Amino acid sequence: MDHRPKGLAVPAAASMPTTRVQANGLLADTRGRSLRDLRISVTDRCNFRCNYCMPKEIFDKDYAYLPHTALLSFEEITRLARQFIAHGVQKIRLTGGEPLLRKNLEQLIAQLAALRTLDGTPLDITLTTNGSLLARKAAALRAAGLQRVTVSLDGLDDAVFRAMNDVDFPVADVLAGIEAARAVGLGPIKINMVVKRGTNEQEILPMARHFMGSGMVLRFIEYMDVGATNGWRMNEVMPSSEVVRLIQSELPLVPLEASQPGETAQRWGYADAQGRHDPGLGEIGVISSVTQAFCHSCNRARLSTEGQLYLCLFAEKGYDLRSLLRGGASDADLANAIGHIWQGRADNYSESRSQLGPDTGAPVKRVEMSYIGG
Ligand code: SAM
Ligand code: SF4
Ligand code: SF4
Repeated sequence: MDHRPKGLAVPAAASMPTTRVQANGLLADTRGRSLRDLRISVTDRCNFRCNYCMPKEIFDKDYAYLPHTALLSFEEITRLARQFIAHGVQKIRLTGGEPLLRKNLEQLIAQLAALRTLDGTPLDITLTTNGSLLARKAAALRAAGLQRVTVSLDGLDDAVFRAMNDVDFPVADVLAGIEAARAVGLGPIKINMVVKRGTNEQEILPMARHFMGSGMVLRFIEYMDVGATNGWRMNEVMPSSEVVRLIQSELPLVPLEASQPGETAQRWGYADAQGRHDPGLGEIGVISSVTQAFCHSCNRARLSTEGQLYLCLFAEKGYDLRSLLRGGASDADLANAIGHIWQGRADNYSESRSQLGPDTGAPVKRVEMSYIGG
C-alpha cells in the first residue's frame, strides 16, 4: 500500500548513467548551484499534528506510514551521506517527521559525526525537532556528537500552542526541552516559528521579547504551500517584511550581513540606544520563502525516509537511491548517480511561484513536508 496521500506521484527510479561525474566538490546544477547542504528525514511519523504540516483529518489513525523495512538503515544513510560529502556537502540536518521518534538516533549521529568533509573538517551536524522529547534526549544527542539543534515553537501562549500542535501538547514541556539542550551545550540554538496569519501573529512580539538576549536565534518562517494537504491560502501568509515592521515598532532592529552563502534567513540584529547592533541582545532571522525567494542560492538536497532524493521542497518526484543501494551499487556508482541527478537540477519553484497564476485551490501533487523534512 502506498503510504502517501492519494494523488502524489510515486518517485521514479534513478537510472544508472554510464558517463562518470567527478566527485571533487565542484559539482554544479544547471543554474550553477553547488551541493553543500543535505537534509535527511529519518522518520515520516510525528507525535504532533500541526495543521500546516500534518493535518489531523489526513494523518489520522488509518494513515499508512512507512513500514520499518522501507526506512533506510543508519548504515545506509551513512553510506549515502559519504557520497554526498564527496560532492561537497558540508552540513547535514536531520529532520522528519519528528526525528527524535526514530529509535537510537544517537547511533546515527555518532556515525555521521565520524565523517569528514572534503577538506578534512568535521561535518556541521544539526537537527530540527518539535522539542517534545528533547528534555529526555538532549544529553545523549550531545554525547553522540550533535553540535546544535533547531527547535520549532509557534507561540508562548499555551492555548495557542496546544491548538497549533493539535495534540494538546503544553508549551512548558517544549521550553523545558530547549533549556535541556542549552544546558548540555547544544548551541547556538535556533527557534523556528511558522507565522500563520489569523492563527499566531499575536505571538510574534511575546516570542521576540522572550528570546531577545537569550543567546538563541528566533527565526520567523512564512507559512508555505508545501505538500498537498494543508489547504494553503496566500491570505494566511504574513510577509516577513510585516513581521520585521511589527518587531521594529517595539524593539529596534538593524539589518545584518548573511553569515554564509546559501543562508535561507535574512538576519536582523537588535540595536542599542545608538542604533548599532548589540551582540548581547542577539538577532532574529526571517525566512521569506514565499515573498522573497532564495532559489538562486539554494544548495540543498533532501533525502527522504525511504531513500528518495528530492532536489526541491516543492518537488513532485524523487530519485530512488534506495533501489541503487539495495541493488548492489558500488560507492562510485552511488556518487555518480547523485552527480548526474544534481547536474540536471533546474528547480526554482519559489522564484516561479509568482508566475504560476492565481491560487485556484486546484489539487497539487507535491510531496509532503513530513515525508522529506523541512
Ligand atoms: N518535526 C520537526 C519540527 O517540527 O521541527 C522537524 C520536521 S518539520 C517538517 C521542519 C520544519 O518545517 C519545522 O520548523 C516546521 O515548523 C516547518 N514547517 C512545516 N510545515 C510548514 C509550512 N507549511 N510552512 C512553513 N514551515 C513549515
Ligand atoms: Fe510534526 Fe514538525 Fe510537521 Fe509539526 S511541523 S506536524 S512537529 S513534522
Ligand atoms: Fe530551493 Fe526549491 Fe526552496 Fe527554491 S523552492 S529555495 S529550489 S527548495
